[in-house]
Amino acid sequence: MQYINSLAYAQSLDKKDPLKSFRDEFYIPKHKGQDTLYFTGNSLGLQPKGTAKIINEELELWKERGVEGHFEGERPWFHYHKFAKESLAKIVGAKPEEVVPMNSLTTNLHLLMVSFYRPTAKRFKIITEAGAFPSDQYALESQVKFHGFNPDEAIIELAPREGETTIRTEDIVEAIEHNASQLALVMFSGVQYFTGQLFDIETITAAGHTAGAVVGFDLAHAAGNAPLALHNHQVDFAVWCHYKYLNSGPGSVAGAFVHSKHANNPNLPRFAGWWGHNEEERFLMKKGFRPMAGADGWQLSNANVLTTAALLASLEVIDKAGFEKMRSKSVLLTGYLEFLLNDTFSSHEILILTPNDPSQRGAQLSISLINNGRKVFDALAAQGVVADWREPNLNEGQAGVIRIAPTPLYNRFEDVFTFVKLLRKAIG
Ligand SMILES: *Cc1c(COP(=O)(O)O)cnc(C)c1O
Repeated sequence: MQYINSLAYAQSLDKKDPLKSFRDEFYIPKHKGQDTLYFTGNSLGLQPKGTAKIINEELELWKERGVEGHFEGERPWFHYHKFAKESLAKIVGAKPEEVVPMNSLTTNLHLLMVSFYRPTAKRFKIITEAGAFPSDQYALESQVKFHGFNPDEAIIELAPREGETTIRTEDIVEAIEHNASQLALVMFSGVQYFTGQLFDIETITAAGHTAGAVVGFDLAHAAGNAPLALHNHQVDFAVWCHYKYLNSGPGSVAGAFVHSKHANNPNLPRFAGWWGHNEEERFLMKKGFRPMAGADGWQLSNANVLTTAALLASLEVIDKAGFEKMRSKSVLLTGYLEFLLNDTFSSHEILILTPNDPSQRGAQLSISLINNGRKVFDALAAQGVVADWREPNLNEGQAGVIRIAPTPLYNRFEDVFTFVKLLRKAIG
């Protein structure tokens, strides 16, 4: 792709964009009366205009019919989780029966580790990335301790090579092979939250299985952002949230995937609740847990209807846009941001931590500032740029990292162009 560094060119890309009308489906936060340059869809996606309507429909049903809402109305609450399945399955590359919206992300990680991290005296180790999102680190550490092992011994964290910013797939595969006899679980993120690296899920999963381990992914930054094929890639389990690239609102219901090869395995231990029980006899209130087939069998509680309603509103927009079109635009949009950054700054000013190969990243670029990091970030914020700031943690000589995630549904090429102009001014 030959890009041009000019406003007219950015605007011409917007004009040609087949998804340009989707920006109008979202509320864009304001700064001094103007639309912000909102680049934190990786942290909290914006609110679709249809969200309030569908939540209000559930509030109305509750108001008018009370408990009857469980079995009446357009979307009976008893089946509520099912209304999201088809769309979610497309987004993560699964069969509908392999996915379920439930709980929150970290809760789902724990629940699925109960089933899929089953250490023995010989096989108890977990391979994961260094610098994983803290919640994941705490989940792994506490699971290891729960089983009576020492996290320092059991958890192997893989880091980039000296002088590099992301982890090579070959190094992951080698570490898996090296630890094969002791490995219980390979657990990675899909897109690394800090560096924006999209891991090679297919290769990592195959290597894990060859080593005799179970393989799971945390797709918090990948779901709705990167192409996924969980079923075909034979991933054992995965979890994600819906409030980042899936625009379902703060703390909204999360997602879980269990591969169909495990759907009816009665030997998998699990922590059970009534909503995972065979739905035909759920209300018989009988003794003895008999799980639903598929991911549904991991549910604990009745659906969190109000936040699942927000998820349905968001999925409707994504279904209308089509994920393939979203990804095509995302690759162009992030590619344009990268081009502008490289055209505008020298390597003494910024370093892009994210891989430059589009197949190894999603929407996000993580930009390390060499000087005056926090001051630059504050100057951007004063101009209406909403971005994310992280203190440096990789190499010496960095002043901090700005994460910018232009998303394909509501960000424009012009937003990216204006951002780089403002960054130029802020850096000086
Ligand atoms: C956002 C994120 C979380 C947040 O977990 P919650 O349970 O939703 O609070 C956890 N892990 C990763 C990798 C994330 O990106």
